[in-house]
Amino acid sequence: MLSVKDLDLDCKTVFLRVDFNVPLDENGNIRNDARIRAALPTLEYLLDKGARVVAASHLGRPKGKVTPELSLKPVATRLAELIPQDVVSSPDCIGGQVDCLKQGLGCGHVLLLENLRFHAEEKANDFEFARALARRIDYYVNDAFGTCHRAHASVVAITQFVKKAAAGFLIEKEVEYMEKLVRAPERPFTAILGGAKVSDKIPVIKRLIDKADEILIGGAMAYTFFKALGKETGLSLVEPDKTELALSLLEQAEAKGVNFHLPQDHVIAESMSATAPSEVLLDFPVPPDHMALDIGPRTVDAYGDIIKNSRTIFWNGPMGVFEIAQFSRGTDSVAAAVADSGAMSVVGGGDSVAALYKAGVQDRISHISTGGGASLEYVANETLPGIEALSEK
Ligand code: AMP
Repeated sequence: MLSVKDLDLDCKTVFLRVDFNVPLDENGNIRNDARIRAALPTLEYLLDKGARVVAASHLGRPKGKVTPELSLKPVATRLAELIPQDVVSSPDCIGGQVDCLKQGLGCGHVLLLENLRFHAEEKANDFEFARALARRIDYYVNDAFGTCHRAHASVVAITQFVKKAAAGFLIEKEVEYMEKLVRAPERPFTAILGGAKVSDKIPVIKRLIDKADEILIGGAMAYTFFKALGKETGLSLVEPDKTELALSLLEQAEAKGVNFHLPQDHVIAESMSATAPSEVLLDFPVPPDHMALDIGPRTVDAYGDIIKNSRTIFWNGPMGVFEIAQFSRGTDSVAAAVADSGAMSVVGGGDSVAALYKAGVQDRISHISTGGGASLEYVANETLPGIEALSEK
């Protein structure tokens, strides 16, 4: 895989795929510009080297239709505040007018294309659309790790139509850490998985059964496993159609000798609310009018011990309803334990990353991934379509 550093950039026109899919408030204002800032090292490097940068991103889910609320114009305005150069914004991402803007772009200047997903062809990985994106482009640089698990036109097909394709600094760093995880992790290797649904995490659990020494399960998804084991889970969130699969994952883990841990105790309440009285439940059944909303203190200690003795850690997904203070202790404790472990740690997923920041331990994590879904899929498949496209070029 080429690096952006391998390219001779002077006055070359570079298509830079970034992830400017920023959260917006109800008035269309940018709530958090972290994703724009994350792309700055690569963008500034390209501009310093005199490239003409044509930056492109998706924003939200416009479903192939022009949706003014999901225009990238406010992003162009914000970007212009963060860099010394002007940012030209484009009315579309393909077409004659866009080609003229590309041609008129000065060396060391930046053009931000309009939302790629205003065209259904983007998600369809359409070759003609990719060819149109690549018109008047010399080189392609991808720095949108969070989108690399999608075989979309601006991520995969476009690489066919440019002279060279390379990874930006963000992708290089992500790949470096993901490779450490999936190729030769120092042992013990502990994977911590939480969140709402087991169905989202089946491929990654399957792969981790082959790779990890310890798998710690938290969040609502634990209760699909418990249901599969015949426990009474009360009102806890379970996926009844996934119990057979959960059972087969438990069997596979046992056959491979991996330690597959489910919570030993649970914080339960009658409802998912900040005011509902909560208590610790040591053993099943969860009463029929209660639901399990966090891992309990015994589990916090047991998981903490395993985390402390780990040399490599991968964490994705909260241990409970961490958005509500009385159910956040499990997730907060895991965040602190991972930071204290001194292990090579990779954390992905918006909720787990938010927990790290809340605990103020973000600087003691080896790598915080910018792509929750992408990092899960990297662990599951040991590569991503967007990374393959760069490597094959
Ligand atoms: P995911 O997107 O699958 O990582 O799920 C994250 C969501 O799972 C968060 O919004 C949590 O509040 C929620 N969650 C975690 N544990 C539980 C639980 N025990 N019951 C209900 N929701 C949960």
